[in-house]
Amino acid sequence: MLNIDNYRKVWGFKDKSGILIIISGPSGVGKGTIVNEIIKIFNGDVVKSISVTTRKPRFNEKEGIDYFFKSIEEFSSLIEKDLLLEYACVFGGKLYGTPKDYVEQKLKEGKNVILEIDVQGALQVKRKFKDCVSIFVLPPNFLELEKRLRERKTEDEESIHNRLAIAHKELKSIYNYDYVIINDDLKYSIDCIRSIIIAEHCKINRNLKELNNDG
Ligand code: 5GP
Repeated sequence: MLNIDNYRKVWGFKDKSGILIIISGPSGVGKGTIVNEIIKIFNGDVVKSISVTTRKPRFNEKEGIDYFFKSIEEFSSLIEKDLLLEYACVFGGKLYGTPKDYVEQKLKEGKNVILEIDVQGALQVKRKFKDCVSIFVLPPNFLELEKRLRERKTEDEESIHNRLAIAHKELKSIYNYDYVIINDDLKYSIDCIRSIIIAEHCKINRNLKELNNDG
């Protein structure tokens, strides 16, 4: 069993640029929980981009931690000023987007940056960052997804139906992704994503600079 505290040794060469990691999947599948655990495991080497949205905050959400909550006018201004890496209209006409500066800055610092975004946003990012890594998280089945959405108690009935309908549609985009994970067992899902990040860092083409310097 790999000692996660020693993961740097497994990477072989400590490459200098971080990896942009896209995580998509239906609302309620558990992406947020997985991502929070991954951030803890990698202890500062993996960070999460905080999105901007025009959706209203839920009772348990905090500004700057879950999202930056914006009015439509504020969001439009971010688009006009070209401050978003990607954006999309996801649920019920609500806009979601990724602030560009934070992502670019963290990648430059050598951090791995996770974007928890929908399939439309993922396509936009893939066009701009050819070497990003994309992961789609699936629920074990749709009944389970519905159960998780209800148990979360953050959505009304209309929103649950809306989210399930979108989840069915989003599934068609799964073939655009590099990896798929079925989030049946949380620990196993976390392990899969941790392994993907480590494996990506071990790829020859991500270590060319270090290899050539040594050669
Ligand atoms: P929620 O409203 O449940 O917080 O998020 C709904 C969905 O919006 C998430 O499952 C995620 O796929 C998507 N989302 C969150 N942030 C962004 C973003 O910055 N860009 C895009 N394109 N989608 C996002």
